[in-house]
Amino acid sequence: MTHINRLRNTEKLVVACDIDDVKFPFVPRFCEFHNRAYGTNMSPSDFHVYSFGEVMGVSKEESLKRIDEEYLRSEEFLTAEPMAGSEDAIEHLASDFRVIDVTARRDNYKPTTHRWVEHFFPQVERVHFSQNHYVHAGDRISKAQICLENGAQFLIEDSGDYALQVADAGVSVYLFDQPWNQGVEHGIITRIPGTGKGHWDNLLDAVYRDV
Ligand SMILES: [Mg+2]
Repeated sequence: MTHINRLRNTEKLVVACDIDDVKFPFVPRFCEFHNRAYGTNMSPSDFHVYSFGEVMGVSKEESLKRIDEEYLRSEEFLTAEPMAGSEDAIEHLASDFRVIDVTARRDNYKPTTHRWVEHFFPQVERVHFSQNHYVHAGDRISKAQICLENGAQFLIEDSGDYALQVADAGVSVYLFDQPWNQGVEHGIITRIPGTGKGHWDNLLDAVYRDV
């Protein structure tokens, strides 16, 4: 039985999935944290760039302090639940694909990331930690390399930069439409709107239309 399952598993195609702002509501929860802690009125629609320092109007050092020290330990971060539709959609995808996660989260996020993914997304085979362009994150390989080495058919992503990097390497990307990735276009990047049924149901429609 195990043997049969394993055989079937290896025949499945691989799907790679980002975590932050695809599965984990990083920006929305960060805004809640920041508004509480700093009395601001920040909202995800303010993120026309995926640069927290720029949106907050503070230095890189101050930005890292707020994100890596304060937010990482906050209630908002620690009690965050998956984004709407993501659990059902991953469960659905996992019946037809092997699912791996690929995130640029840094080492200080590793324990909580593993716990969170195992809890909410038990179908995920493995979490891969990729290079982070913002701060040094060890000797890691890029998202594109991880997708290629794992034979990913496509990546589900919200970052315009990573989407372009992976698409340039020849791997298709489904890009969740967000204020911070406007204008990103590529022949093998499909933009997934958050309107109507929401990102994840729209993604499933696109995936099963394309395969
Ligand atoms: Mg992301």
